[in-house]
Amino acid sequence: MELVQEDRYRFRIVPEGDMRVPGVVFATRDLLADAEKSLTQVADVATLPGIVTASYAMPDIHWGYGFPIGGVAATAIDEGGVVSPGGVGFDISCGVRLLAADCARAEVAPMLEKIMDVLDRSVPRGAGPGGVWRLTGPRQLERLLRGGSRHAVEEGHGEERDLARCEDGGAVPDADADQVGPRARERGLGQVGSLGSANHFMEVQRVAEVYDRHTAEVFGIAEDQVCVMIHCGSRGLGHQICTDHVRAMDKVMARHGIRVPDRQLACTPVDSPEGRAYLGAMAAAANYARANRQLLSDVARRAFARVAGRRLSLVYDVSHNLAKIETHQVDGRPRRLCVHRKGATRAFPPGHPDLPEDLREVGQPVLIPGTMGTASYVLAGVAGGGAFFSTCHGAGRRMSRHEAARKISSRELRNRLERDGIAARPLSWRGLTEEAPEAYKDVGEVVAASEGAGLCRIVARLVPLGVVKG
Ligand code: 5GP
Ligand code: MN
Ligand code: MN
Repeated sequence: MELVQEDRYRFRIVPEGDMRVPGVVFATRDLLADAEKSLTQVADVATLPGIVTASYAMPDIHWGYGFPIGGVAATAIDEGGVVSPGGVGFDISCGVRLLAADCARAEVAPMLEKIMDVLDRSVPRGAGPGGVWRLTGPRQLERLLRGGSRHAVEEGHGEERDLARCEDGGAVPDADADQVGPRARERGLGQVGSLGSANHFMEVQRVAEVYDRHTAEVFGIAEDQVCVMIHCGSRGLGHQICTDHVRAMDKVMARHGIRVPDRQLACTPVDSPEGRAYLGAMAAAANYARANRQLLSDVARRAFARVAGRRLSLVYDVSHNLAKIETHQVDGRPRRLCVHRKGATRAFPPGHPDLPEDLREVGQPVLIPGTMGTASYVLAGVAGGGAFFSTCHGAGRRMSRHEAARKISSRELRNRLERDGIAARPLSWRGLTEEAPEAYKDVGEVVAASEGAGLCRIVARLVPLGVVKG
């Protein structure tokens, strides 16, 4: 594979073999150390029918199922462009939500341990079933799959204003519950309002530094303010939908005349029965993930109100595993595209009509978790943003879970977090080592590269005070 450095933050994979477009990788040489396997995935994605402009990779790229995590690919719907479940990932609409408390750190510092204890007890998590909401039955699940956060708010779990600060107003249109199979429903029923495991978390943070005061003010955050960041997705329901639809597409790909270099890239045209079925089910899972984050916000709000008498306002909620039908300029004309973002965050620029009025002047908030021991970031979309207005989604893994668990001692990690004043409430300390800061790339380098590549700009840095981990 020929990787050509075009400028400081941009590399190009020269098309060869069946590649229809080049690969474009936004990163630095350092961030690409050990990225060989994931760069092959960027090249593989470039072979997909209907792909336009380039197969993109963000600075937090690492290996994923079929597509790399940190990958963006758009296909032209009117040219037989495909949709691929692997381009969304198993945790459909996994994403991040940030809430801002109406106080500075000093005001909650004496109550922090208590807040963390309440969250520890009240946030359902782990791999199995359990959730804050026991649904009345399959009918309510269907309402939730259509209504997302909106349904949760209508049922009393949040405020109307929350919806204005959610991507898509809290619910993706065109969810088709009929395309969600029985096993997926069964798994979904018992997990509404739960964190899941491993990389998912609820973290109490402090705004350590603001780089753009005006934008931060519009977003609703200020230096030293306390925030709560929630990272979770669509649990077993999303996972099962991905499994089911990959299998369905794998069976009919040949009939559609599609050949892919890796079976994990299973896909069919957006405009095919299987493509439409997947997108309908995917939208349902996306709504499940949003309702999930809405319900967990309710848990955080109750803990803050009860222990500290404080309120939490939603800054934004955005997913980083999703395919969306969007219109973008390609070769000077507007095209309807299916934009896959997998481990990549939509970053709409200032003035974008889909942004709520109060955010339109400054651009979309982009929420980037880093690690439980270092930092996380708030970014904003920029005019002319590359990769169909997308940017990174996190620090990105450097070590596999297995490698991290082998190399890092849970006792040492526990001591280190304690020393740094981070109140950790893990489900298990052993499991926590898989998520240790050194298992991830340097999030500061990742966001600097994202900004340097013209994908976004940095608004604020947040540091952890306490973390509830799955
Ligand atoms: P993913 O969606 O790929 O599973 O994870 C997104 C990002 O979350 C990771 O790349 C990592 O940077 C970040 N992350 C994982 N665990 C934690 C945590 O406990 N706290 C924070 N702030 N970030 C985390
Ligand atoms: Mn996830
Ligand atoms: Mn995620």
